[in-house]
Amino acid sequence: MKVKDIFKSMAYGPAPESAKEAETFLADHNKEFKLFINGDWQKAGSKKMMDSINPATKKKLAKISVATAKDVDQAVAAAKQALTGWKSLSGHQRARYLYAIARQIQKHSRLFSVLESLDNGKPIRETRDIDIPLVARHFYHHAGWAQLMDEEMADYESIGVIGQIIPWNFPLLMLSWKIAPALSMGNTVVLKPAEFTSLTALLFADICKQIGLPKGVVNIVTGAAETGEAIVNHPDIQKIAFTGSTEVGKIIRRATAGTGKKISLELGGKSPFIVFDDADLDSVVEGIVDAIWFNQGQVCCAGSRLLVEESVAQKLYKKIRARMEKLRVGNSLDKCIDIGAIVAPVQLKTIDQLVKKGVEEGSQMWQPSWKCPADGYFYPPTLFTDVSPSSTIAQVEIFGPVLVAMTFRSHKEAVKLANNTVYGLAASIWTENINLALDIAPQIKAGTVWVNCTNVFDAASGFGGYRESGFGREGGKEGLYEYVKPRINREFKKTSFVKATKKKLAKAAQSPKGIDRTTKMYIGGKQSRPDGGYTYTVTDPSGNPIGEVSKGNRKDIRNAVEAAHATKNWSGRTGHAKAQVLYFIAENLFIRKEEFAKRIAHQTNQSIQSAEKEVDVSIERIYYYAGMADKYDGRVHHTTSRNVTLAMPESIGVIAVACPDEYPLLGFISTVIPLICMGNHVVAVPSQQSPLSATDFYQVLDTSDVPGGTINIVTGNRDELISVLAKHDDVDGVWFFGSEAGSKQVELLSADNMKCTFVNHGKHRDWMNSKHGQGSEFLRQASQIKNIWVPYGA
Ligand code: NDP
Repeated sequence: MKVKDIFKSMAYGPAPESAKEAETFLADHNKEFKLFINGDWQKAGSKKMMDSINPATKKKLAKISVATAKDVDQAVAAAKQALTGWKSLSGHQRARYLYAIARQIQKHSRLFSVLESLDNGKPIRETRDIDIPLVARHFYHHAGWAQLMDEEMADYESIGVIGQIIPWNFPLLMLSWKIAPALSMGNTVVLKPAEFTSLTALLFADICKQIGLPKGVVNIVTGAAETGEAIVNHPDIQKIAFTGSTEVGKIIRRATAGTGKKISLELGGKSPFIVFDDADLDSVVEGIVDAIWFNQGQVCCAGSRLLVEESVAQKLYKKIRARMEKLRVGNSLDKCIDIGAIVAPVQLKTIDQLVKKGVEEGSQMWQPSWKCPADGYFYPPTLFTDVSPSSTIAQVEIFGPVLVAMTFRSHKEAVKLANNTVYGLAASIWTENINLALDIAPQIKAGTVWVNCTNVFDAASGFGGYRESGFGREGGKEGLYEYVKPRINREFKKTSFVKATKKKLAKAAQSPKGIDRTTKMYIGGKQSRPDGGYTYTVTDPSGNPIGEVSKGNRKDIRNAVEAAHATKNWSGRTGHAKAQVLYFIAENLFIRKEEFAKRIAHQTNQSIQSAEKEVDVSIERIYYYAGMADKYDGRVHHTTSRNVTLAMPESIGVIAVACPDEYPLLGFISTVIPLICMGNHVVAVPSQQSPLSATDFYQVLDTSDVPGGTINIVTGNRDELISVLAKHDDVDGVWFFGSEAGSKQVELLSADNMKCTFVNHGKHRDWMNSKHGQGSEFLRQASQIKNIWVPYGA
């Protein structure tokens, strides 16, 4: 072709990147990789190997070891041995190691980029300009956190050995999201890359050796699902950090239930890309390219659902089709391609099947006129229009270059459609009206909201999901909490801090003869009779009956959950407005102090003086959370793009609480009040043996301007009722303060819709001690951070 012709056609020629250095790296390892354990390369226990394939050419790159359970055991032992030394280094010393890693990644960035593109099939432009710079940034950022840990995380300490399992879509980036914060907070790690994409993790192991990272701090074990399982189930691992499918996330939640292992799960998504009629449609088109054709659409937060205002839909579709026609699919090492190869045949098949399903279900499918190259696993960019919101392709994560478009007529409908998914990872909002964007952002249930931008990431900002997109955050200060535990946890005990007393009380404190009334339940701001019509007798510790209480069942739970959802009157209030109500509750409790103290004494056989103290501490605790209601706020993150990134703590939704048995009033207050302080609605199941302080509390709520439905109280068999709540699809979180077995049950049952859980694993706190019974840790558990990226200074 002549230069003149090129000027006419404006067609790009190929611009191949050399693979020479990457091939040298592979040759240095004889194209056969061992495991990286205790700072050295080690042969796997089994001879079984996996092939690493270049998906753009189908050519074999190398053989990768498959770690057995025994290998995992050795890696964990190495990490355990390295732990004491690593966590006792000063923050500064750890920072220097992380800084050294960051520098080495920058120095070898082209090698990492090429290797990643070869192994994964993603365009070199993306690995070179996005993945690898973000990896280096992550290590720099967390070098800073290591340095600052003593000051910024003074009440927290490292967890121990962390098991980390990552997917194939951003291999080295996901490694950095996992390893950098873990190391910075003084933990050691055993990481498993995905079967399809282990190579950059193995090159990273070389970097760890080069910088002289102490042996055993980072261990890389390659393998498939069985290797992952061995990590998840290893008893010496204290935390699992996982990114991958929701299906495997649920398996991990269930496998770790009751073990006390901390977990963070970053799972799938079906993120909405919302376009209002005033948006700059040309920018929108480029945004869509980044949202769904970046990394071939194999992105957990891909903007895979286009929701467009009806009046501009046809115009936008036309522009999208024109842009799609110009997109180039091809070899990942060609700098002129936009879309690379799909990671593996199995993923290609999944995409193809879902696209066929979309056509079968009646949606309109459009693909460009050109054909994809035949020498690799390629799939063309695809647009579906006329998609029904309930169709498979609108609900299921396709994880490929497939955009499904739907229209809306009103802002309300846009929000409804956006939230019509089990996921909640990310969303982008496109409009020239900043008021509209910031009105919609808080209404979207997602961990990240981008305004007029999409797929922007930075180490300073937390990333993670709501609902079935998982829990926990990666990045930013919020991400650090996933790799630490409160120092105070050391003080919690298997036995109660309350000494059992069977002593007979002075006459004045004893309950009146006989049973004077039966308490109802409290649902939607009203007292209601139990559906089953049953009650149970409450006794004092000496076995004397002191009251009759309603015995709630699953129907009562259903009603309570419905009532908790029925009002938005509480969650939407400002911190100041919530504080007003909390102060009012405390004031009304104070007026009835004597009555509450007597009731506590009847239930526990403690002296009136000590019961009065419990009421006093309860009042003070309510004051604490009233004070916090407008002070537990977010941050503006210093991200690297032209954005302000607002990290806002938001309510989780409807939370079920099983209140502790100790301290009938204080136990109830200490768990329910922090939840409503953060704007959640609560279904509380009070202590089964001492529920009367909670049932007396109805009247305090009625006189304190608490909107009906904010706090719902169902009495009965606590562990049975909380199990119903843990299974309930409309409950977003469960707090449980009871037995070890009960904690396990809650974690197990909550996996179905990935509820956030906060359980005590049978360990007791001293609720009278403010260090045990209150604090920002409760508020952190009661909220989730949404990061909103707003253009700033652009
Ligand atoms: P998986 O969730 O299966 O894999 C993620 C990681 O978990 C991999 O390292 C995998 O190992 C490992 N793994 C698999 N099973 C287990 C197990 N039982 N216990 C412990 N670890 C396990 O995702 P896939 O790669 O199979 O992709 C399937 C689908 O998941 C995709 O089509 C996509 O929809 C979604 N996905 C979502 C991602 C996200 O970021 N949200 C990322 C990747 C996929 P190995 O791969 O080596 O077998």
